[in-house]
Amino acid sequence: MQKLEGISLSQGAVIGKIHFYREAEYEIDEGDYDDSEAEIERFEKALEVVKEHKFALAEAAEANSDNEGALVFVSHVALLEDRGLIRRVEDYIREMRKSAEFGVKIGFNDVADDIRSLPDPYIMRRSDDILELEREVLEELMGHSGGISFGRDPYILAANDLTASEVARIDRKHVLAIILKEGNLNTHASILAKGLGIPCVIRAESLSYACDGKEAIVDGTNGVIILQPDEDTVGKYDDIMKENRDFADSLMRLKGKMTVTKDGREVRLYANISNPYDVETVLENDASGIGLYRSDFLFLKDRDYPSEEEQYLSYRKVVEEMSPRSVVIRTVDIGSDKNVPYLHLSEEENPALGMRAIRISLTRLDFFKCQLRALLRASAYGNMRILFPMITSLAELMECKKLLLECEEELHREHVAVGSYKVGVMVETPAAALISDQLAAETDFLSIGTNDLTQFTLAIDRQNPNLDRFYDPHHPAVIEQIRMTIEAGHRHGCLVFICGELAGDISMTESFMRMGVDGLSVNPQFVLPLRQRIRELDLKA
Ligand code: PEP
Ligand code: MG
Repeated sequence: MQKLEGISLSQGAVIGKIHFYREAEYEIDEGDYDDSEAEIERFEKALEVVKEHKFALAEAAEANSDNEGALVFVSHVALLEDRGLIRRVEDYIREMRKSAEFGVKIGFNDVADDIRSLPDPYIMRRSDDILELEREVLEELMGHSGGISFGRDPYILAANDLTASEVARIDRKHVLAIILKEGNLNTHASILAKGLGIPCVIRAESLSYACDGKEAIVDGTNGVIILQPDEDTVGKYDDIMKENRDFADSLMRLKGKMTVTKDGREVRLYANISNPYDVETVLENDASGIGLYRSDFLFLKDRDYPSEEEQYLSYRKVVEEMSPRSVVIRTVDIGSDKNVPYLHLSEEENPALGMRAIRISLTRLDFFKCQLRALLRASAYGNMRILFPMITSLAELMECKKLLLECEEELHREHVAVGSYKVGVMVETPAAALISDQLAAETDFLSIGTNDLTQFTLAIDRQNPNLDRFYDPHHPAVIEQIRMTIEAGHRHGCLVFICGELAGDISMTESFMRMGVDGLSVNPQFVLPLRQRIRELDLKA
């Protein structure tokens, strides 16, 4: 038995087997290759090797009477023999005169995209299999091993570190817990990991690839990982896990209840999401709406930006499924730690202060208008609020509103329905907080992003793990800006929400309620604990 110390990111405890993810470094050569037939031969050879490996795994599973496992590997072989998939790769190699690796990358992703757009959720899941096979074929071609292997049995995902887009690709049904050697409390990767509602421990410095395949207990509450636990320890954690389950069950009785203090002050309790599929968890946890849909992740998962149609379908799915509850959708906040290679953004010294969020949108108008049109079209299907991120001046807001109006007029001319919608601004820079009066006069709502507001007020990079002890969202300068913004919003009849991580910090709930906040938006898993906290408060006492 060995104990690894780390830092708690998400609470809870689990027991399981560790799967260590090593990011494969795929540098795909995009140069021209004249000998296409030789590249096709390399591709076919790699395909054969992966198929043989799958056959061997199927045989081993059968020998262990694991018929279900055997079937999965046989189905992988069938996918690798699919003529449509093979033709797609070969056509790319031949017509574009590119390497086998390039053909595999583009061809497999194309097929995965096609499958993902099908309405049948069972078939949609096959796209994950295709991407897993793509990685295996690439590894064979490039002589790599490792990489994400989202196996069938639930496991503890270990890694040196994970990017936001890697966390966005995690299938929560298969991952019991996340443990990282590195990691940082305030990055988007961490915010997404917390949203998965599973125990997470970061900065476990002794974690290494040697832990791969070992049984372990992850104690997210105390930030500890216990490798190969003895019987007594397993017994102790079985009791803890039962207590946790009982507590989660007890919260369920708050479903359907109002979020109101003892003295009758009601507040909107919303959830933050980053993916249309999160709506299920939002409804399970009975949030009264979505206070922040980070649309960014739609832009991170592909190699090209999503079309208007693709965006419209995602936004429509969310507003329709949540209707009549309201949904705040934030326009893209990419750049900084959310890099999108197809935008070819230049390297920056200070990316958090650089070309990101609304600055990209207002610089690349086609890109922005495509998103605005998709949002407006989706507004016909539910209760939509459009939110602009990283606003620092009234002029930026007015430009956004003008473009929104232009898109609306365009859609009217095309006889495309647009619903009613509200417009809001993220207050996540000191500039926005200081001019919140002006911004409130021009918007329907303000939403305070405490993560960036802390970063920019304190001039502390939220990405830098060495600065965690200085990154203090409770700093009086941050709290004062929250109070100012709520008051400014109310002077102009604007609703004011808080959607950064501080919204879920129950040590702040009473202060926020006393300041008169209209809504708090938190990870779906925090909704019921926060409702419990609010129902215990008596602001008149
Ligand atoms: C924030 O800055 O508080 C916020 C909610 O946005 P993000 O965490 O996505 O930057
Ligand atoms: Mg932000």
